[in-house]
Amino acid sequence: MSLLKKLTEQQSAFSLEFFPPKKDMPISSVYGAVEKLSAYNPAFVSVTYGAGGSNRDRTIDIASHIKNSFGLDAIAHLTCVGADPVSINGVLAALEQNGISNVLALRGDIPDGMDKATAFTHYQHASDLIKDIKKRGGYTIAAAAYPEGHVESASLDQDIEFMRLKEASGTDFFITQLCFDKTAITRFFEKLTKAGIKAPVVTGIMPVLNPNQIIRMALLSACSIPASLSKIICRFGDNDDDFRKAGVAYAVEEIDYLLANGIHNFHLYTMNKSEAVEQIILDSDLNG
Ligand code: FAD
Repeated sequence: MSLLKKLTEQQSAFSLEFFPPKKDMPISSVYGAVEKLSAYNPAFVSVTYGAGGSNRDRTIDIASHIKNSFGLDAIAHLTCVGADPVSINGVLAALEQNGISNVLALRGDIPDGMDKATAFTHYQHASDLIKDIKKRGGYTIAAAAYPEGHVESASLDQDIEFMRLKEASGTDFFITQLCFDKTAITRFFEKLTKAGIKAPVVTGIMPVLNPNQIIRMALLSACSIPASLSKIICRFGDNDDDFRKAGVAYAVEEIDYLLANGIHNFHLYTMNKSEAVEQIILDSDLNG
């Protein structure tokens, strides 16, 4: 079944995200978690792209291994900040050689040490990259979406206007940034329907496993921490085991609520670990 069919025709589906290990770690260190979770039949597995293209060979190698050794649909993330059409074509050609035809097309953030003019000389927005990939042909193209608005945007409505532009430029489906507020997610989907967005949207779920990491991520992504999550941080923040259990239960509750409200596709941010994500799959209604 094609990746897009899985997202539109299956009752529910989930995908997984991994990042390339740092250069001093063996690339194989990520494969144990991929193998363990592949038993649960993910719709696809995505591999992130380092800021400004750092580590990009690892993104290609891991996506290729996931596809060719584990037989899973793999998506390579690709950012265009600081890139030019020649370098982008080089990455796309390498992906094609490895049989990867799914790309998450992103703008990316300006890497440390790069000035704004250099960063946006050739590509200003993800939609510019999406148009180039579409022109090249042969790709299923995903793009990013933000249930509470992108950190730079003036409003969620404006952000959704730019989602429409990304869709018109060739986006086949969207994957969202993490969002801890389930009611913000259902409101977002209502707005997408009103705005006429037709492409499937896969909801990003970040397992809540470490209080400091959650607070840091919420600040970086400008997303809210609902009172129910604040309570977990206050009650269990100094006990790793209890926090982890409460964090898994929080993600399970979020997924089950969203499934009950007609939202079917979930992207699980694994942080390269299998245990918590496996527990979430087993405990939630994703499992049957
Ligand atoms: P864009 O869609 O270009 O949007 C960026 C900002 O510009 C937004 O505020 C938007 O509203 C605005 N905008 C968009 N189009 C226009 C327009 N035509 N005119 C004016 N304003 C416009 N980063 C990485 O470096 N590597 C990764 O692997 C990676 N993976 C990610 C995976 C997911 C699922 C998500 C949600 C994000 C990921 N990111 C990754 C982070 C992403 O690169 C940043 O959030 C980045 O700041 C924005 O990228 P974008 O593709 O959403 O950009």
